[in-house]
This record gives sequence, C-alpha cells and structure tokens, in this order.
Amino acid sequence: MGNADELFYSEPLHIVRGEDVWLYDAEGKKYLDVYNNVAHVGHSNPHVVEAITRQAKALNTSTRYLHENIVDLAEKITELMPGELEVCYFVCSGSEANDLALQIARAYTKKQGCLVSENAYHGNTTAVFQMSPDDCVPEKRQDWVQTLPSPKKYQQTEQIELNCLKDLSLAMDKFDEIGIGTAAVIFDSIFSSDGIFLPPPDYLKTIYGAVRQSGGLAIADEVQSGLGRIGSHMWGFSHDGVVPDIVTLGKPMGNGYPIAAVVTTRKIAQVFDQEYGYFNTFGGNPVACAAALAVLETMKTDHLMQNAETPGLYFHQELIELAEKYDLISEVRGKGLFLGVELIDPIGKEPATKKTAEIVNLLSKNGILVGITGPDSNVIKMRPPMTFNKRHVDRAVENLDEILSSLF
Ligand code: PMP
Repeated sequence: MGNADELFYSEPLHIVRGEDVWLYDAEGKKYLDVYNNVAHVGHSNPHVVEAITRQAKALNTSTRYLHENIVDLAEKITELMPGELEVCYFVCSGSEANDLALQIARAYTKKQGCLVSENAYHGNTTAVFQMSPDDCVPEKRQDWVQTLPSPKKYQQTEQIELNCLKDLSLAMDKFDEIGIGTAAVIFDSIFSSDGIFLPPPDYLKTIYGAVRQSGGLAIADEVQSGLGRIGSHMWGFSHDGVVPDIVTLGKPMGNGYPIAAVVTTRKIAQVFDQEYGYFNTFGGNPVACAAALAVLETMKTDHLMQNAETPGLYFHQELIELAEKYDLISEVRGKGLFLGVELIDPIGKEPATKKTAEIVNLLSKNGILVGITGPDSNVIKMRPPMTFNKRHVDRAVENLDEILSSLF
C-alpha cells in the first residue's frame, strides 16, 4: 500500500461490521457513528443490501449495453432537481464527477479559469487536486485556479454583496490578464473543509450572478451537502434559493457502493456531447444504479430528509447549550445533520487545534466517532447517517459534555 493517506484516530480502528448508526470493531466494541455520510441511509441498510444482491445475481457489467436501472436512476435524480437540470452523467466518485463538471464547463464556455473557495476540497484527480486548496498548496497551484475567501470573512460584514463582488472581480481579473477567462465557480454548498459554513444570505446568488455575467458557469458540489442532509432542502444550494448550471453528487448516493453523478441542463450537455465522447466503464453500472435507487427509495419511505431536520435541530440546540457551558466552544455551525463545533482557546484566542484532536480521540475511546475539519483543524465535524435520532444525539452530547468537563 502507498503511504500517502492518513488514519483518523490516534488509535486506528479496525471496523468489521456496521448496522444502522452503529459500527463494531474486531473485538466487538460498539461505536456510535456521528461522522459517516457514506452510509447515508444507515450501515448495511437491508433494502440497499437486498437491491445490490438481487442485481449482482442477475447482471453486473460495464455500461456498454442498455439497462433500465441507469435510466430509472437518471429520471429519479432529475425529478429531484430544480430548473432545467435534466441531464445526468454517471461516474464512480465525487472526484470524477467534479473533473467531468470542469470539462463540461470548459467545453461550454470556451474558457479555462476555475474559482474555488480558499480551503475547498473537491477531490483527487490531477485537475481536481488543483481545485482543492485544502490539499494543493499555493506553490503547487496552477494559474487556471483562483481562490475566493471562505464565507467566514463575510460573517461579520454588513455589505456582503459589495465585499464579495470586490474579491470576485480581483480573482476573475487574474484570469483575464492571462487571457483564459472564467469557465466556472465551484462551491461545496456547505463549505465543509472551510470549517462548515452555510453561505451567508444571497452569497451564492451574488457570486453565481456575477460569474454568469462574465460568461462562466456555476457548479454546485453536493457530494457532502446533498441528498437531504441539511434537512430543510434536498440540495445545499437551495438554501440560498439558487439553481446552479451543473451539480455534482457522490459519497452518499450508493450507501457505500461507488456511484456519483454530474447533472446539468440539456443546452450545456449538448455542447459537451458534440465536442467530446464520454465513456465510464463502471460509472452507473447495473449494481451501482440498483444501490442508488434503493437509497432514494429508502429516503422517501423512511422520510429521512425530514429526519435530518428534526433531530438535526435538536442536535444543534444541544450543542449550543454546551457552548454556553464551555468557553472553549466558540461557535456551533451547520444545518440538519451536518454540524460543526469550533474550538478556540478562550485565553489566547487561538484555534484549539491540539485540544480538538484530543477531544476527538477521547470520544473515539468512549465509542463515539466524529471527525475534524477547517483550515486550522479545530472544528469537530458531525455528519452521521440520516437515520440518527434524538437518543443518538443525547448519547453523543453527553459524552462530549463528560470529556469537556474532565478536561477543563
Ligand atoms: N467534493 C467534496 C465536497 C468532498 O467532500 C469529496 C470527498 N471528501 C469529494 C468531492 C471527492 O469525492 P471522492 O472521494 O468520492 O472522490
């Protein structure tokens, strides 16, 4: 194995089984999964397992043939999309989806530049790595990528529109100076690796509008914020009342079976289709589509988007109560079942990076799994399966409370 990846916890976990919101390690220890958005409808969800098994027994092959599953899935996904987002391309990962989205945007606009948020993560292909400042340091960044400040900058500002337009035009000018223009802006609609920020009101509207005026497209990366996770809406971008030109989906789509998608308008797709061929051996194969269809069915029958809203709100409130109790918690952010708890040292006012890691590792020892995000690695990231309920919230919050009180 290559050694470029990192493990999550100071004592690495050897997980061998999952059921709903629970994970079990090789010794049989049980963990509450407060982190895993891949198991969107719960680990080893029986309906998804059954759909995968049934289809695998009948056929799994490349996407060279006609198959009803891929058509059904394209119809179901586009039904869930607003506006004219009615054409799907299927791929295997969020990275591939964003890579293809960039290619489509460039084909349509005949421009090259791509705007991203300053700590964004959009994936791991050669192009998408460039669009991921979270991993790609400025010295490695090529001139077709420019960054925009994270929404944090505009949190305290009155004149959001004026300020963000100023930053945007500085970035777009750089593309114009080298003659490449702006092909697209891409945002993860919940700005996860920036530290979990919902865009301030009208932020997406303002940026999308200005980018479109200069001939570019708006891409929404819904790999994390999509499929009902924010509770109030199916897609993160809908929170700001916008409709992007291209939407990318991934992680939760197949509940762990690799499948991802790019959704765009017919007008944009036609330009791309005329200029390029696109074939993806595994993207949208019969089993992948069966898994994704079962996820969508389960979301509907089990009302999981609504579920993200109610326990999500309760989770948010409980964390705010903890923030009132402990000075270390500077802010609780996010929406639905996608929450971030920021830790700032109350004396030095510095990001509490070390303490965040300590707390996350202690939680893991206690059987509660959460993650870390943000440019300073000081935001506890909570993004559990969508079946998370009030009892699970209580267990997570009680443990966090216990750990914080033992430390301070
Ligand atoms: N976009 C976002 C917002 C992501 O969080 C990720 C994965 N963390 C990706 C894209 C890339 O997805 P994948 O790992 O499936 O390639």
